[in-house]
Amino acid sequence: MFLKRLEVIGFKSFAEQISIDFVPGVTAVVGPNGSGKSNISDGIRWVLGEQSAKSLRGSKMEDIIFAGSDTRKPLNFAEVSLILDNEDQHIPIDYSEVSVTRRVYRSGESEYYLNRQACRLKDIVDLFMDSGLGREAYSIIGQGKVEEILSSKAEDRRVIFEEAAGVLKYKTRKQKAEKRLDETQENLYRVDDILYELEGQVEPLMIQASIAKDYLEKKAELKDVEVSLMVYEIGELHKQWSKEKEDLEALRNDHANKTKDVKRHEESIQSLREQLKDIDEDIRHLQETLLSASEELEKNEGRREVLKERKKNFTQNREQLMRAIEEARRRKNELAEELEQEEQAGILAKNQVKELQTSIKEKEALLAAGEIDLEKELDRLKSDYIEVLNEQASLRNEKRYIDEQLRLQGAKHERLLHENEHLIEARAELEERQANQQQLVKECETELDEAIKAYRSEQARAEQLRRDYEKNESKLYEAYQLSQRIQSRKDVLEELQADFSGFFQGVK
Ligand code: ATP
Repeated sequence: MFLKRLEVIGFKSFAEQISIDFVPGVTAVVGPNGSGKSNISDGIRWVLGEQSAKSLRGSKMEDIIFAGSDTRKPLNFAEVSLILDNEDQHIPIDYSEVSVTRRVYRSGESEYYLNRQACRLKDIVDLFMDSGLGREAYSIIGQGKVEEILSSKAEDRRVIFEEAAGVLKYKTRKQKAEKRLDETQENLYRVDDILYELEGQVEPLMIQASIAKDYLEKKAELKDVEVSLMVYEIGELHKQWSKEKEDLEALRNDHANKTKDVKRHEESIQSLREQLKDIDEDIRHLQETLLSASEELEKNEGRREVLKERKKNFTQNREQLMRAIEEARRRKNELAEELEQEEQAGILAKNQVKELQTSIKEKEALLAAGEIDLEKELDRLKSDYIEVLNEQASLRNEKRYIDEQLRLQGAKHERLLHENEHLIEARAELEERQANQQQLVKECETELDEAIKAYRSEQARAEQLRRDYEKNESKLYEAYQLSQRIQSRKDVLEELQADFSGFFQGVK
């Protein structure tokens, strides 16, 4: 066995990972005070399982983790790996190289690895127990230890030498063997105690044995009595069973009858359901008819109102026309009278003209006689004549106007008469239509009344059928329940029969 290499990271002053290779012969680590030489041997002790922070020159285990420096931040963990050459198989393990790793975190969590496999501290301690490399062995002698050895008493020194010489493992084995011997002795003491206890129980056990014997005899007697009782009970149960069987048969018959009843009720319910469906259909039809009759009635009501309104308008028109005809007639008479007057005036004017002509002739005669101022008279006569002519022209115009008016009024009268005839015809037609509509409305009302009556009677019938249906349904439900009860009773009885329930175990 040979220490090959030590790898350290985060342990005490080693913030960077360092790897120290050891070669055969003596290896010396040289450096000024406080440069970290002792930290290397501390690392070796720590990886081999050192648990005392004090012996690692710290106050708690966290102190061994790199605490930071002026240029570096502290680390969160420390890890040390020790690699040993095991070519000679000094360590009892099937590897030619053994690596032991210990890692600790600031949280206090600690991990151990043997050849990079996680393991327990105990595994490492056990492994190095016989190798002389354990943490208690004196393979590592720290600063001040030599001085301690030299200055201690002879007995203490002996202990140190013994440990260093590898006596420690035998001592440990001895301690273990002694411990086991103590345990065995303890067990022996306990056995003695139990024996003592049991000896005290012998007497009462003998009494209990005689009681048990007595008990067995009584038990045999009891068995005989029980068998007789059982024979008797079997007879009774057989009778009961026969009776139950008969009951079961009767219940079966009853069940069959009830099943038939149920079937019959179901059929009747089915037919009632169909009838109900038909009635519902009829009701729906009647409702539709009722609806259409109501709609028709509403329409007819509307039409009747329109016709009423139109009739009222026609009556008013007719009255107006009658009044207009009357007016036209009156105007015609007036105009006829005026015409007559004008004709009279015309005749008068003609007579005046004649008179004037006569007068002119007279005047001419007088003129000829030269007795009157001819010129003056002529002018006066001329103006009279012009006046008469103007009057005649205006009378003629007036007559023409009156003729035209008479013609227009006559045409208007004709037209009004015509319109009146049309209106009378339309009125007659409307009255006929109104009568027809009223008839139709009456028919619709009668039909509606009949439909309402039919609907009500169908409703009553449907109600009756519904009541029947509900009654039958409840009957059916009762029949179902009865059938269920009979069925479950039958099942129970069959189960009892099959299980030989009520019989003693032996009889079964
Ligand atoms: P000496 O010759 O005086 O014994 P040395 O070379 O053996 O000295 P060590 O005692 O091994 O040196 O190392 C001490 C150094 O380690 C100190 O400088 C100390 O600051 C440093 N040190 C110890 N623990 C830690 C830590 N947890 N984090 C950082 N540095 C640490």
